[in-house]
Amino acid sequence: MGFSEFHGNRDTVAQIRQLLAQERLPQAVILSGREGSGKYTLATMIAQAMNCEKRPESDGLPDFCGRCRHCLRIAQAKDLAARSAEALEAREALKESEKKETRLFVQTHADVLVIPPDPPQMMIKVDQVRRVIGTIYYRPAEGREKVYIFTDSAFMKEAANSLLKVLEEPPDFATIFLLTENPGELLPTIRSRSMTFTLSALAGEEIERDLAKHHPDWKPAQRALVARLCDGAVGQARSFDLEAYTVARQHALVILNSALRNADHSELFKITESYRPGAEGREKTERLIHTLYSLLRDLMFIDSGATELIRNTDIISDLKRMAESANFEWITAASDRLAEVERGMRRNLLRSLSLDAFAVALEE
Ligand SMILES: [Zn+2]
Repeated sequence: MGFSEFHGNRDTVAQIRQLLAQERLPQAVILSGREGSGKYTLATMIAQAMNCEKRPESDGLPDFCGRCRHCLRIAQAKDLAARSAEALEAREALKESEKKETRLFVQTHADVLVIPPDPPQMMIKVDQVRRVIGTIYYRPAEGREKVYIFTDSAFMKEAANSLLKVLEEPPDFATIFLLTENPGELLPTIRSRSMTFTLSALAGEEIERDLAKHHPDWKPAQRALVARLCDGAVGQARSFDLEAYTVARQHALVILNSALRNADHSELFKITESYRPGAEGREKTERLIHTLYSLLRDLMFIDSGATELIRNTDIISDLKRMAESANFEWITAASDRLAEVERGMRRNLLRSLSLDAFAVALEE
């Protein structure tokens, strides 16, 4: 338990804990880093350290016990996707009139409020910031420190301006975390009032070691594959749906091979037939498109002799065989066509039709 559970970025974590120890962590903290780099996990850990009853130390720095009532309640917020889905479900159950006025929050501890982007626009809205303004000036109810975690930096304009007002005069018993993949998305005036920490990607071997713990059932080649596909983002790697990816990749290979070899279309159509409209079909199609891109990128790397950059390392011999008949022009054309399929999907064209058209259009 404690900060030792956080993978990678040891120096950054140590700096933050150092500031905690000296009570010099500012009232507004930006945690920057790509999806899955651990921004949210780290923010909740700091919230635990700020409120932990036992306040243990490790390596001479503040830590958290993970077992006291504060630690446990804050830990319940750690599965952000699940908690956000519950909050959304609760809102869906409301009457139309109430639904409009209800904003999304995740709160498992009286003094820790998590503010996710609000659907359907997936942006932070002014009513969410108003809740922050309405509560932040009251002393913590149970813990020592109030913590607000904005999990996304896409703010509606009015929301960003309201947040700025809070940041101009935050109470000293509250800390606001702003998580972002792209700090440039935040107003410069918000950035200048915050301290920014950047979480960098982990090395592939570090992710593989982590996966050996979290997915002991995966073979080493599978762990290596996931580590490469997730590009150093440990959170993404841990929750990677290997099974779904494997299916999507199998389909993507048939589609590309069929186009490259002008093969009989029956196998191809059998696959594209299975991509149906509707929410479930949409997710499946998006995964297929994503996978097609990843294979095309690998073919491009082979074509330009940069084989060390290949992600789908476990099927490298298949890819090399394909690359023999896929030249640079073909790969570029395929990527362009794929972008068309994506645009078509957004306009809700029949998926199987546009996938068929995609494969057939790529034939020489
Ligand atoms: Zn504790």
